[in-house]
Amino acid sequence: QAHLDRIADVDGDVHAFLHVNAQALDAAQDIDRRRAAGEELGELAGVPLAIKDVLVTTDMPSTSGSKILEGFLSPYDATVVARARAAGLIPLGKTNMDEFAMGSSTEHSAYGPTHNPWDLDRIPGGSGGGSAAAVAAFEAPFALGSDTGGSIRQPAHVTGTVGMKPTYGGVSRFGAIALASSLDQVGPVSRTVLDSALLHDVIGGHDPNDATSLADAWPSFAAAAREGATGEVLTGLKVGVIRELPDSGFQAGVSASFRASLALLEAHGAEIVEVSAPHFEYGVAAYYLILPAEASSNLAKFDSVRFGLRVDVPGGTVEDVMARSREVGFGDEVKRRIILGTYALSAGYYDAYYGSAQKVRTLIQRDFDAAFAGVDVIATPSAPTTAFRLGEKVDDPLQMYLNDVTTIPVNLAGVPGISIPSGLAEEDGLPVGIQFIAPARQDARLYRVGAALE
Ligand code: GLN
Repeated sequence: QAHLDRIADVDGDVHAFLHVNAQALDAAQDIDRRRAAGEELGELAGVPLAIKDVLVTTDMPSTSGSKILEGFLSPYDATVVARARAAGLIPLGKTNMDEFAMGSSTEHSAYGPTHNPWDLDRIPGGSGGGSAAAVAAFEAPFALGSDTGGSIRQPAHVTGTVGMKPTYGGVSRFGAIALASSLDQVGPVSRTVLDSALLHDVIGGHDPNDATSLADAWPSFAAAAREGATGEVLTGLKVGVIRELPDSGFQAGVSASFRASLALLEAHGAEIVEVSAPHFEYGVAAYYLILPAEASSNLAKFDSVRFGLRVDVPGGTVEDVMARSREVGFGDEVKRRIILGTYALSAGYYDAYYGSAQKVRTLIQRDFDAAFAGVDVIATPSAPTTAFRLGEKVDDPLQMYLNDVTTIPVNLAGVPGISIPSGLAEEDGLPVGIQFIAPARQDARLYRVGAALE
């Protein structure tokens, strides 16, 4: 009830939610009854959870921020949602996002932007700005997000929250409306590292419904966070800093906060080691070929027949109806990427564009492998600037894309990355995050280190 009251109080200004679950209170009361009847329930039973609208749900519409899916009800729950419900978590509602998770500001939502609770004139990050804003505004204790190039970590950075992108294959993508299947990963957003770890424990692990799901037995991430909280893990920890990351692209307050975090790590016994990742800087360029290519293919299913919006064209052919429905149903950014992706995959261009981008991807993976031979984690600022103003970059796709320079390489390499708050920037008083990156499958290490620094 407290969370529903808070939503009623502030969401008119923040607009984190696209849909609030009318059954949330009943579900919570049901948990109370089961607990009173002596049923053994998990640690998170009864805790409300906000869910990014990219994740399909049977009892609430799932739009992925698009008009083309307005009102769409899924016949099944995403695996992560089913697991959350089974653990007794209460779906609180669906959160706003850039259309089909394309963006860094939530301004590309077909349902209007979300506002950053720290300053309502500023963006909450994207694409999962709704989830991060809901958590930052105390409308939800934690939330689910998805991260293809930074959509969990960059919103966490600009809202002073924690956001984790797990190892690729560590969390099921079944029922996550696909943006770029080789990059997408679902993960938690929360106010503390431990909260993200607790949620990750619930949603993670093998899922036979996702062909890319890892069969690994994962350790308890909550145990790792609790262990990390003592701070001892920092003694002797080797933290890599990327030599080639240009200082120039970063806002002064972001760089200053990053340096202060490194000094704090050092003061607690960590060793800062320079590592080389010469291909890191080509991440954004490779990503904006790979992502549109995969997205154009994934979005082909929105054909006005199988899903969502259908606009009739009197006297028109099936082709006319499809074309018109996609014209009306998709926003500008989605169309831009479908056109880019279709072009990049065209006969004759495949090797020059998609093929080259895949080679760059391999080089980035090798950079990470080489760097991790000498360090336990790599640290970067989570994003180059603090929350920018609504409207500032929305008409400049290149500026928007550059927001993800430090997060995108992590998705390209399939490794885990976490953003945790590292303070406020001196010049504008807005939140800044530090990102830690670990080798694939070492998600627990990020919770340990994150909790220690927190
Ligand atoms: N901002 C990036 C993009 O626009 C990342 C999106 C994401 O992680 N879903 O593609």
